[in-house]
Amino acid sequence: MQLLSLHPDKTLGRSTNESTIIGHLKEAYSILLDQQLRNEYDRHLLEKAKKQGMNADGVGLDQYSLDEFTADEIKGIWSMACPRCESEGGMELNEGDLENGTTDGEFGLQLALQCQSCSLWIKVKYYMGDDEEEE
Ligand SMILES: [Zn+2]
Repeated sequence: MQLLSLHPDKTLGRSTNESTIIGHLKEAYSILLDQQLRNEYDRHLLEKAKKQGMNADGVGLDQYSLDEFTADEIKGIWSMACPRCESEGGMELNEGDLENGTTDGEFGLQLALQCQSCSLWIKVKYYMGDDEEEE
């Protein structure tokens, strides 16, 4: 009888449960609020990235095809005269660059490339050859 009355469920019972529930609600609310803030922050970052994104995804850049580049297959380098400063080979990329290209949302790939002389950015579109995968 004595033990039973000291049992937390019996003695504190209701008030404990209530404070626990309120505690849970507060916690859930703060997580929810935190999640909203995080979503807004993510969206903000995305918008910011889009505005600055010209170097990352090539939006707003002049577009060139890899066909316009001269390939040096021995070195594995593609080069082109810069369209702005006309520096010969100012635009240069290698196989590693091509492997790091991103999809253009259609069926090709693209990457942003910077002139080594005047630091102009351009967008280069290309396709990875299927024949490299077929042996
Ligand atoms: Zn240039």
